[in-house]
Amino acid sequence: MTAEDDSTWLIELESAILDGCTPQEINAITKGKKIPESLRPDVWLVCLNCHDMGNQLLMFDEIFDLTNQNELRDNVKKFVRKLDNDDDEKLSVISDIESILTFYCKSRSITYASNNGWIEILYPLLSLKLPRSDTYNMFERILKLYIPNGCTSNGVPFHILRLIIQYHDPELCSFLDTKRITPEQYCMPWLKSLFSGTCNLEVVLFMWDLYFQRSDPFFIFFLCLIMIINAREQLLQMKNEDKATIVQILSKMPSDLEANDVSDFCSLAHYYSLKTPVSFREDVLEVLFSESGLEINSKLYSQALCLPVAVHELIESATVDVADADAVKFFLVDCRPAEQYNAGHLSTAFHLDCNLMLQEPNAFTTAVQGLLNSQRQALAAGSLAAGEHLCFVSSGRTEEDSYAHMVVASFLKKNIKHVSMLDGGFVAIHDYFGPHMTDCLEEHNTSVCLVCAPNNNNNDNVVQQSVNKTRDNIPAIQLFSKLSSAMKAKSQEVKGKLIEYIVNPNSNVNNGDWHVSANDRKEQRYRNVPPVFSINDEDEDTHSDYRRDSNTDNIDEIVELQSFLKSQHVVDNFSCQEVLSNGYMFDSYLVITETHLVILREIPNKKGAVKVLSRRPLSTIVKITAKKRHPELITFKYGVPDGDNLLIKDMDRFLIPNAAVATKIVSNQIVSQLDNKLQ
Ligand SMILES: [Zn+2]
Repeated sequence: MTAEDDSTWLIELESAILDGCTPQEINAITKGKKIPESLRPDVWLVCLNCHDMGNQLLMFDEIFDLTNQNELRDNVKKFVRKLDNDDDEKLSVISDIESILTFYCKSRSITYASNNGWIEILYPLLSLKLPRSDTYNMFERILKLYIPNGCTSNGVPFHILRLIIQYHDPELCSFLDTKRITPEQYCMPWLKSLFSGTCNLEVVLFMWDLYFQRSDPFFIFFLCLIMIINAREQLLQMKNEDKATIVQILSKMPSDLEANDVSDFCSLAHYYSLKTPVSFREDVLEVLFSESGLEINSKLYSQALCLPVAVHELIESATVDVADADAVKFFLVDCRPAEQYNAGHLSTAFHLDCNLMLQEPNAFTTAVQGLLNSQRQALAAGSLAAGEHLCFVSSGRTEEDSYAHMVVASFLKKNIKHVSMLDGGFVAIHDYFGPHMTDCLEEHNTSVCLVCAPNNNNNDNVVQQSVNKTRDNIPAIQLFSKLSSAMKAKSQEVKGKLIEYIVNPNSNVNNGDWHVSANDRKEQRYRNVPPVFSINDEDEDTHSDYRRDSNTDNIDEIVELQSFLKSQHVVDNFSCQEVLSNGYMFDSYLVITETHLVILREIPNKKGAVKVLSRRPLSTIVKITAKKRHPELITFKYGVPDGDNLLIKDMDRFLIPNAAVATKIVSNQIVSQLDNKLQ
């Protein structure tokens, strides 16, 4: 980068500040670059939103009569004595700090307490050499926006920090737990002063530059996390040291930070914040960062087994664009007993029966191995159900939750990272979908589902049965689809409109395309209305019997393959084999156009020529299923709505080497078609 480029952003920054920009705009301009000293005061005033605060110190009566005024004065003097400034400067710093803190206490009728971090926060602010009223306003804003409430013994912030450490480094967390070291013992000053009490001034100024631009009060937790994880190797080697030594080492960690490290340090913290579920913040945001005086039951966090995840985050994460590599993606582990799982579950859920752990430990170990393998495979394949983050779903009923907790604890004990639990368990999923629940759950059976019919108690008999069933199911990975997740998101968005569209598809689309036959009567009726893409071993080919084989009656449409593939509306094509119900396979091409799924079959001895076997309107695809054990074996089912049910009219089955990609493109195309209709 040339010097010229370098100054452009500064000019941009200067003019943005003059135009009254937002912290986000500043962030976009600086991109983490070091802000020159001359611009820092303005940047901070903007980021802390101090512009309209006026001169509050005009209200100060200049009478220093706090009950513990002497204590305050001593603390200030003690602090300033350690500074390098010359004597005149020291005097003015002492006077500024004492005035500001005295007025702050008096105007709010609060009592000053030693070691509350205030003096440390004021010092970097004074270094900006702004008018005292600006310094005061910034100080007030920082306390309000960035210093978590409850930085006391057994306070909520420390329990939250512990959960975050555990989430990213369970081994280190368990080491500290074993030593009975809790975050409050070493990072109280970090939180109370945003590291100002422990880092040198240059580091603090640069860190705060980046911090205030982010406007994210939770960032402090990730800065703390990096500080701790950064020393993990050193800490883990201290197994034989006593607690006090380790606490001392930890406490001093930030003082080693140098200005050159700050940028990397903050980038790392940013990275970890992206790799952490966010919904737990919602419940505590107001408690930690407002003057509402709200109290939160700290037991919720001190006793939490792991980080809680809210149901909306779980569902929404499944709909995030796969290309967004940084987003938290969950691998769902449903650990309810089998009979509950079988009465309704999310299609993405891997089932791990918590009863198994006690009743058949060996089978449980195998199942866990299967789970971790499936997770690895899904990740490697870039599957839609893939996620590095394990989210456990319990029943949400006290009866079973203790078993679920044992399962989760067993994962943590193995030092498995990124372990969370769904807040409220399956009940929360059930409630979340509300009236759309039947459309969104797989195999939901209202007469057996314990949320729908809470009186269905599981007796020993059922539990025994469940163990047997589960063994058959393992490893039972069920993959989510872009289609069904997109549907869910949409269904939230348009409040049922989408469902309506699927129930009443455009009449000209299915006009005459159906192979209605006498067999229809015998067809299984589907309770689910929206298209569902799932990977499972259900419906063992009940429909293959009347798969059309009447092509011979039609006049064959022969086309030239390459020119067909180049035609205008073709979105993509996949070489595959069509599998007939009698097991015969034919080399074929699955061609996805903007509106249709076209099946082309190669003609033996006629190179380059193919027969157009069928043209399926995309809107008639109601189900795409894959085999658990043969994920490349894909079945497309076509149907029409029949009242509240879905009538399956026909199906095609293929062996597609690139099945995941192919089904994704088909799903996307169906969704985008729906999108067009909704507009
Ligand atoms: Zn139910």
